[in-house]
Amino acid sequence: MKNQMETFPGSRHFRLKQVTDGVYAAIAVPGTGSLANAAIIDLGDSTVVVDTFMSIEAAKDLQTAARGLTGKPVSYVINTHWHSDHTSGNQVFSPQAQIISTTAAREIMATVGKNRVIQQLSNLETLNQAIAELEERSKQETNAKLKEEMLWELASEREYIRMLPDFAYTLPTITFEQQMSICGSDRSVQLITYGGGHTQSDAFVYLPEEKTAIMGDLVLSKHHPVLTHANPQAWLHILEQVELLAIETIVPGHGEICSMRELYEVKQYLNDIHALVAKAVRTHTGIEELSVPKAYEDWHFTTYFQSNLKRVEQLLAEAAGEQ
Ligand SMILES: [Zn+2]
Repeated sequence: MKNQMETFPGSRHFRLKQVTDGVYAAIAVPGTGSLANAAIIDLGDSTVVVDTFMSIEAAKDLQTAARGLTGKPVSYVINTHWHSDHTSGNQVFSPQAQIISTTAAREIMATVGKNRVIQQLSNLETLNQAIAELEERSKQETNAKLKEEMLWELASEREYIRMLPDFAYTLPTITFEQQMSICGSDRSVQLITYGGGHTQSDAFVYLPEEKTAIMGDLVLSKHHPVLTHANPQAWLHILEQVELLAIETIVPGHGEICSMRELYEVKQYLNDIHALVAKAVRTHTGIEELSVPKAYEDWHFTTYFQSNLKRVEQLLAEAAGEQ
């Protein structure tokens, strides 16, 4: 049989990788506006896509890839969480496909997510200004790794802003509370949420037969986890529950296809960040003085390290205030 992957002409937004029979990961190419990873699952008689990138253009390529690989249009799109780099391409698949998320994630998209885009559209000047500032900072950055990451971010932001005039914020059409299954003729997927950790509500896709999970941003590979909307304690609790499942292969929200090892690394990171901030508070050290621990020096998303510390500091202060 001809390798289905070879029939796909390719995309500048992602590299297509076969995870296992019928399961493909679309690994984001940095600086192209895709930003996050996505996945394609061939259920036999229907096709599922998990997450839809940050741009319409990237999502269109994902749709082409899905059709090419499975020979069918996409029937279901799953949004693992509300963040724009996992949901902005939804409109490409609608209304032919049903878009599925947790009830809470849809609620946030319908309010916070949608309002954010309306604001961006009514105030493009602010967005452009932020981009200009980032460009200025990137010019002055002397660290090669940081500079490269800034240029990626800059390119992604530009792709996002270029897309905005054509953007139609597209909400999920089916929601679930804890778990749901999509059963196909060849394989089935389970959609599972253990609540919110990375965001207020995070879901992942589990294929028990294939021992594979598409984890959204609950697991990143060699990228700083993003704590902007996170509850780190709840996140750890979610990962402990995920550990009980039979998973060998993980498609992370960002980074290459990985294994449970990267899930343990995320747990370690969350614990380390907490310990770093707790110690800084105890010793009255400013968190701005903390540098990235050696274990995470070669990870991407470096700029999130400081904002992650700030987020944990804020959560610790809130917890102390409540006592
Ligand atoms: Zn996210």
